[in-house]
Amino acid sequence: MALITMRAAVLHEPGKPMTVREVQLREPNHGEVLIRTASVGVCGTDLHFARGLFPYPTPTILGHEASGVVEQVGTGAPFRIGDRVLVCDQMPCGRCGPCLAGRMVYCTDTTAKQRQRSRLFLDREPFRQYLGVSALAELMLVDAAGVIPIPAELSFDAAALLGCCLTTGAATVFNTAALRPGQSALVIGCGGVGLGAVQAARIAGATRVIAADPEPHRRTAATSVGATHTIDPTERDLVEAVLAASDGHGVDIAVEAVGEPALAEAAFACLAPGGRAVIVGMMPPDSSIRVPSALLRRGRAIAGSVMGEVRSLHDIPTYVRMATIGLLHADTLATTHRPLDEVNAAFDDAATRRGVRTMITF
Ligand SMILES: [Zn+2]
Ligand SMILES: [Zn+2]
Repeated sequence: MALITMRAAVLHEPGKPMTVREVQLREPNHGEVLIRTASVGVCGTDLHFARGLFPYPTPTILGHEASGVVEQVGTGAPFRIGDRVLVCDQMPCGRCGPCLAGRMVYCTDTTAKQRQRSRLFLDREPFRQYLGVSALAELMLVDAAGVIPIPAELSFDAAALLGCCLTTGAATVFNTAALRPGQSALVIGCGGVGLGAVQAARIAGATRVIAADPEPHRRTAATSVGATHTIDPTERDLVEAVLAASDGHGVDIAVEAVGEPALAEAAFACLAPGGRAVIVGMMPPDSSIRVPSALLRRGRAIAGSVMGEVRSLHDIPTYVRMATIGLLHADTLATTHRPLDEVNAAFDDAATRRGVRTMITF
């Protein structure tokens, strides 16, 4: 088996810095695509795994919000060498019950996990690919179902962000929350996901979009992409501030994009009767939330959401078109750029909420 050598950021142990070193990967098999990486966003999910908040076998290579150019194509993969593409870690089989029902984030196919064990090698020993992508590397070997073509007008940064955070935020509002024109929305947390949700609420016709974040520059970013009100939750009580900003009624939809149980409870407490809170932030695996039964009685609902229940091969091309015509703002979210050798500093940026998104560019 021919192996290709490349540079990659290897996580040997959670909580320790990554090391940029040479690793190998194999050539694409049937249905796989080899992509030369162009841009990778550092997502909060990567940060959780780097810190060991969610267990994952190591060594591995993190990164899943990525774009690049097709370098090799396996048989049966509908791509050509030189195609500009983005990568999404949702790689639906398209044949199982959840996929056929349009809920492909709950795809039951397990063969993808098998393929992920045979792609990457360290000193000739195979190791586990991360989320089917492992983007913090010069090359990515992925299932064709996770690869989406992008037009020449879309930047690689914008495309990478559409591979995870922007799409997650948008799909949470369009799919899970199903916001209707004229409704009001609250978005808690204005990182990449939250700013995607703010924009989707604007696009879907929300008349009031309230954005909450402790960082002034993120509140400014929220206003620039469509928030009508912003709240600093360190300055005043979040629920009181949202009720005040919604004439005392509360909001029709609330999106929690941080992953903190207390904020999920606050999202629910901010709802108007009949409202719907969607928790898309990744909460610690052993945490729980409490919901007052008196609030439930008036038709309020709370839902978890994996990536906004995105139907990736349908929804992401739609969002790509929205970004290409300027309806969805993507480039402004890429606030810092670093080379692969500064990968640990890039993760520090994410941990300290510097800017909105730090991109690793190749
Ligand atoms: Zn992500
Ligand atoms: Zn499936």
